[in-house]
Amino acid sequence: MNQTIEELITFLSTPQKIIITMHRDPDADALGSSLGWASYLIRKGHDVTVISPTEYAANLNWLPGMEYVLVYEKAADQRNCKRKIDEATLICCLDFSALSRLKDLGKVVQEANAIKMMIDHHLEPEHFAKWMIWDTYAAATAQLVYALIKEMEPDKQTIEIFDISMAECLYAGIMTDTGSFRHANVTPEVHLAVADLMLTGFDTSRIHRLIYDNAPLSRLQFLGYVLSQKLTVIPEFRTAYMVLTEAELLKFNSSTGETEGIVNYGLQVENVVMSALFIERKGEVKMSFRSVGLFSVRDLASSHFSGGGHKNAAGGRSEQSVKETVERFLSVLPSYQQSLLSVD
Ligand code: 5GP
Ligand code: MN
Repeated sequence: MNQTIEELITFLSTPQKIIITMHRDPDADALGSSLGWASYLIRKGHDVTVISPTEYAANLNWLPGMEYVLVYEKAADQRNCKRKIDEATLICCLDFSALSRLKDLGKVVQEANAIKMMIDHHLEPEHFAKWMIWDTYAAATAQLVYALIKEMEPDKQTIEIFDISMAECLYAGIMTDTGSFRHANVTPEVHLAVADLMLTGFDTSRIHRLIYDNAPLSRLQFLGYVLSQKLTVIPEFRTAYMVLTEAELLKFNSSTGETEGIVNYGLQVENVVMSALFIERKGEVKMSFRSVGLFSVRDLASSHFSGGGHKNAAGGRSEQSVKETVERFLSVLPSYQQSLLSVD
């Protein structure tokens, strides 16, 4: 057992006041890993508060424990969040590796006196945490939470440590971050973790349905519009991209969660190895990038769009207009042409 885990076990042997937080606009891995870890710590007798920096997509409302999650940017929750952070002895930072990913909550966490701990699988982490459970080889933060709990409880059987709710939360994170077990990040460890969690007896198919077959009709109609009217393919760069303006989002009454996953459709086009989605929202442009094989969208996002993420899934932001941002994207493509064309 490594020293970090030994120290953590010693620290957690007395009751602590713990905050768990995750990246803004949290996805199923950010929330699932946080709620799974929260559930474990609560069972160990700690006082645990889960805080999301921003609102989250409605198809995650069913995650067990979601009713207790505070949202920092919601006026009604903010004072309570600040008080809890002031009193905290430990702040766990899950599924992100840079405090800027917490939006306004970043400064509050940075200035807090509590010990900080990171559980994450993104590249190039900042060093703000005393304890780092960090592994870019892990497909999901939820997989790291699973492995951490197993390591902390070496003498117990899975069903003595994990209950159905915890397993559902962790499974949701692993399932979504692996694209339902089809991305290149799927390893034997992923399947072994999931097989072990399944011993608790939860229904894997129900979790898939709750996340992917649970959209309002408006999302499918919006998707139809985007695919038929907004998808552009540039064959010479093996790139597909979509641009959505604030007016279009308003027209389809599209909320944050409804654009989630749309970027992936670009990769379904034959020969395409990079897909990009530009969304104009609240005075900034949010970008999502996806790629296959060796082409790194993380490099592109961090070099040109103040972003980051993983090799095959990254994001970024721009304060320029959506038109200028897309022009910038198109203008950098030639410098990546060689790498785009050489993807297998
Ligand atoms: P998505 O496109 O789903 O928003 O994000 C894909 C991946 O890129 C996620 O792993 C996410 O954490 C990362 N990512 C998205 N936006 C940003 C960003 O603005 N900055 C950084 N560093 N990473 C991002
Ligand atoms: Mn993740």
